[in-house]
Amino acid sequence: MHAKRNSAAVYVQLILFVALGLTGMSNPSHATNVATYKIKVSQNLRTLDVSVTPSPGYTLSRLRPLSRNAWSRLNKNSLRGLAIRRSGLVVATEADSYHYSVDIGGGFNRRSFGNFLAGNKTRMTDSREWFWVPDDWQGNETISVEFDIPDGLSVSAPWEPISNNTEAPDASGHFLARPVMLYRRSAVLFGRLQLTQLELPGGMLNVAVATKNPEITNRYVAWTKRIADAAVQEFGHLPATSTQVVVMPTWSAGGSVPWGEVRRGNGSGVVLVPNTRATMTELIEDWTFYHEFAHLFHPFLGSKGRWIAEGFASYYQNILRARAGVITADYAWERMVAGFARGEEQTRKGRTVVNGGLMRTYWTGAVMALELDIELRKRRGMTLGNVLGEFSACCLPASRTWRPRRFMQKLDEISDTKLFTKTYREYSSAMDFPDYSDLLHTLDIRNSAGSLAYGKSALRDSIMHDSRS
Ligand SMILES: [Zn+2]
Repeated sequence: MHAKRNSAAVYVQLILFVALGLTGMSNPSHATNVATYKIKVSQNLRTLDVSVTPSPGYTLSRLRPLSRNAWSRLNKNSLRGLAIRRSGLVVATEADSYHYSVDIGGGFNRRSFGNFLAGNKTRMTDSREWFWVPDDWQGNETISVEFDIPDGLSVSAPWEPISNNTEAPDASGHFLARPVMLYRRSAVLFGRLQLTQLELPGGMLNVAVATKNPEITNRYVAWTKRIADAAVQEFGHLPATSTQVVVMPTWSAGGSVPWGEVRRGNGSGVVLVPNTRATMTELIEDWTFYHEFAHLFHPFLGSKGRWIAEGFASYYQNILRARAGVITADYAWERMVAGFARGEEQTRKGRTVVNGGLMRTYWTGAVMALELDIELRKRRGMTLGNVLGEFSACCLPASRTWRPRRFMQKLDEISDTKLFTKTYREYSSAMDFPDYSDLLHTLDIRNSAGSLAYGKSALRDSIMHDSRS
């Protein structure tokens, strides 16, 4: 599995170099480490002291910030060997290593997490606010990041963990960072975390649960495993060789899983906020984690591609739940068709999907996913899951945003069709919600005002595998 993925990555890298002149695909065998960052986390989790040592043969000239907030977090009296310029921190005096310190106390992600944060025992940060990177960091170059954290506390980061401890492989706080989506949000956590690694086809899931209670941790790790297994069945393997899963339990909000989101900064990652009162059954029946995990199989597509991203994830949130055996195939179809109906109802006509209303954004792409899945199965004997699985093996985590049309062209290449670009053109230029009645007819589903009746259809059964039947 690993060997196959590596050769696919090299092959695609060559194609991209030749055809497009793109750089930035990761290929570990050619990686050069440009610097080592030693980061000391203070006892009260309020300060990071960072020392940057350039590797022999690499000349550091400037460290650049990854967000505007990085400037206000910087302790300007802490600089050693560096001087402040408008463009960043420039090397002022040649030295073996350079130092800066950052205030990470309070205020992080308040807007999206509010009272979800698990108190002062765990601090969730966005590395864009404190990770100043070499000016010219790019391509296959890596940075070795080593944390020195107070006793009893741990670090979770989206970077690939480097281990010298086989018992708790990522407990050493030592990572290898790559220049991947540096301007997107990431999650780096310090505190009372329980770290678990799950090895599945294609890579490793690095799970961090913000609690030290082993019973709670076991439940969330089992939950993660259930979702990842369903995705691996559908897509063939994990979305990346290293994927970070952060679970931040909350006591305060309603619903089984009040919040979930993908974080693409620095790699492949997902943050889930489950309610501590949710039982295992409630957790695995909830759609949120399946939806977020499915997002990891496509690249960041920008605001113009959001409808494709949300559409694919909304399509798979139902398919993966049926796959996992937690809902029946019939119920999964009901939820999908109910979503289509919401998209249709809330469509602002005379506009394209990009600004045609929120539910239309989510469900137009799901109708497109269903059409693509049907066509691929009929014409090519393959599935949409096969194509996305192959895409993730070659091209994820991506080092940059993919334009929607380029993504569709790549999926055409993988499936050896013109299906994706053709379908994308139709859906993206339509001024109304797509008519999905023919698709339901093809699947022998009769829809009378949302109440579904099913004929016999091998095609339908093949899409919505219900592992219980
Ligand atoms: Zn989504």
